[in-house]
Amino acid sequence: RFVSLEGGEGAGKTTVLAALRTTLAEDGAEVVVTREPGGTPLAERIRELVLDPGGAPAIAEAELLLVFAARVQHVRELIEPALARGAWVLCDRYTDSSYAYQGGGRGLDAARIELLERGFVGLRPGLTLLLDIDVARGRERTRGRDLVPDRIEGERDEFFERVRAAYLARAHAEPGRFRVIDAAPPAEKVAAAAVAALRGWRAS
Ligand code: C5P
Ligand code: MG
Repeated sequence: RFVSLEGGEGAGKTTVLAALRTTLAEDGAEVVVTREPGGTPLAERIRELVLDPGGAPAIAEAELLLVFAARVQHVRELIEPALARGAWVLCDRYTDSSYAYQGGGRGLDAARIELLERGFVGLRPGLTLLLDIDVARGRERTRGRDLVPDRIEGERDEFFERVRAAYLARAHAEPGRFRVIDAAPPAEKVAAAAVAALRGWRAS
């Protein structure tokens, strides 16, 4: 009952999230919608440190550990208890974001991320929807939005190309868990495709 939503910048996660929430609510069970980094008071404070570093950005390794500290808190305090009482949990970004951003984007070795995932998190989603979009197209959609400028200055597109490639590699390696959704069409179409993928998975 644990579903994660992943994707690069401008993929339309926010619109899709609302449609997925509605779909999950159909069976009458509680639906908890949450996000990473964040989802609990402490984890939201860590999110601020990472996304709004105020001129003092973390080095890649520190960023990885901060994001994982937030995740462990989030999993133990919010996600696991929700799953235990029978709720659906829909998470906007989860561990795959660490492989994509801290791994692909910032160049950290996936094996080191795996150590953290196995050693501290454990919990994995049953379904991960990946909204995939061409980097240039995603950039168009997010024009004007702040994208952690301290971190990616001067190499914005290259950074997001690596993020995208890391996501797709993970989806390719775990086809049972991932559904890749083409996020290029208008938001309502992307949402419809995501809902169809969710329904298909839930029925299987
Ligand atoms: O698009 P969203 O609102 O989810 O943006 C959150 C931001 O957090 C992303 O732009 C991404 O750069 C960053 N992030 C990250 N590493 C993670 C998760 C999110 O750098 N593991
Ligand atoms: Mg967003």
